Amino acid sequence: MKRLFVLAMVAGCATPNIKRDAVGFSFTSDDRLSHYVKSFLADCRAYLSEKTCSPPIELRVIVNALPDNILGQCTVYESKLRTIELDDTVLNQYNERAVIYHELFHCVMNKPHHDGELDIMNAYEVDENTLYMYAHWPYYVGKVFLRE
Ligand SMILES: [Zn+2]
Repeated sequence: MKRLFVLAMVAGCATPNIKRDAVGFSFTSDDRLSHYVKSFLADCRAYLSEKTCSPPIELRVIVNALPDNILGQCTVYESKLRTIELDDTVLNQYNERAVIYHELFHCVMNKPHHDGELDIMNAYEVDENTLYMYAHWPYYVGKVFLRE
């Protein structure tokens, strides 16, 4: 969940199927996670303008083996590139959606952590709280999109 800024040093990686729109937003994603990116962007457009939901970034969403206790990570590069890494232990687990949305809010919307109350951007998620958020998902998603 830690936000990490990495300067320069971009490893080469294959980028098939880039989706690009007029303002420069594009993304590639692991096939298992691309539906989350699409639903996140659709959710965004329900609350904010098309332009706000399409920042000029090149987003890559991948599955990786992250260090202990890190479930997901957003890396912002000096270039347009931003990467989201989801720990492979999260795949198909109850917290998959919460972790990928958390990282999408970091990487696409520049949202910081919001600890101290139940929130998708709370860096310390607890199992039953995540399930409670799922039961009220539109509320918790909208709360983050609409926060300054
Ligand atoms: Zn985080």
